[in-house]
Amino acid sequence: MRIPKIAALALALAATTTAQAADPVLVIHGGAGVVRHDNTKADEAAVRKALETALRNGYAELKAGKSSTDAVVAALRVLEDDPHFNAGKGAVFTHDGKNEMDASIMEGEGQRAGAVAAVHRVRNPITLARAVMDHSEHVMLVGDGAEMFAKEQGIPLVDPSYFRTEKRWQQLQQALREGAGKQARRGPEYLRYIGTTGAVALDSKGHLAAGTSTGGMTDKRWGRVGDSPIIGAGTWADSGCAFSGTGWGEYYIRTHAGSNVCARVKLLKETAAQAGAAVINGEVVKMGGDGGAIILTSDGKFAFPFNTEGMYRGWIGTDGVPHVALYADDGMIGDVVLKKDDAPATPAH
Ligand code: ASP
Repeated sequence: MRIPKIAALALALAATTTAQAADPVLVIHGGAGVVRHDNTKADEAAVRKALETALRNGYAELKAGKSSTDAVVAALRVLEDDPHFNAGKGAVFTHDGKNEMDASIMEGEGQRAGAVAAVHRVRNPITLARAVMDHSEHVMLVGDGAEMFAKEQGIPLVDPSYFRTEKRWQQLQQALREGAGKQARRGPEYLRYIGTTGAVALDSKGHLAAGTSTGGMTDKRWGRVGDSPIIGAGTWADSGCAFSGTGWGEYYIRTHAGSNVCARVKLLKETAAQAGAAVINGEVVKMGGDGGAIILTSDGKFAFPFNTEGMYRGWIGTDGVPHVALYADDGMIGDVVLKKDDAPATPAH
């Protein structure tokens, strides 16, 4: 059968285009270090409200035909500005009593990426990470240099005291009392002092993006940088899969959790839930780590794997209604929960 020239051209174009028009989806997390008895009813209500606002703001970008990157940034800025999350205002404190923040962003189509680490004065670190991606020839900038770049880009800097909250300060005091500087080895019980934020989105062109923003872990020392700004560990996106992690960062770096999950989706043809179970509830836990993640694949399916008492999380799709959950027993669509007692914990330290 002869194929008319125009049809042949259309077929060839379709074959070279990876992304397809899609129903937009946005999935977010507000950290895996959630412990029910740390939260009052008022805290829970405030967290739910912030997650819903983040979902609505991010989804509005997608509805307006903007990119998945725009949606990720819009959602994360809400969580960075809200004191209940460990990112931007409300970031945890370092051993020296500073708020030291990390963030990164990645686009699936073309795999562009930007990241910042150890910044103290950038009001919205995710916006700076995006500027690194869009306006520099680099992928990661740290410390003073990153802040110099922020100034050049006209990105708002604030006095470091802006990030302080009394609750985070008291968490540091408790950590110091319990054993200064030992958090990197003591692990799981310190997860309750974290609450990183992350977002993954699929836009109407079928393009994915992922972003993560955090203050890291309470009582961190010596310029410690976790997984959140490390492309492939805490954040990853390719044309088929987007990932943002939250948890004990050292283990996410050692398992290259983000690119590992998405490689399983690509090469082993696993679903978001299967790949998340294998890496987050499998490899990370076997090494002695803890945490969770959000994973979104280009078919619009998503998963929330986690192995902690809770993970602030939410999603929004075509009906435009935000769905949020806080604890493991909330039972959210996409949950892949591993109860800690079932886990084969063999700490590596
Ligand atoms: N993963 C982050 C870190 O290790 C902490 C978190 O998820 O809250 O820096």
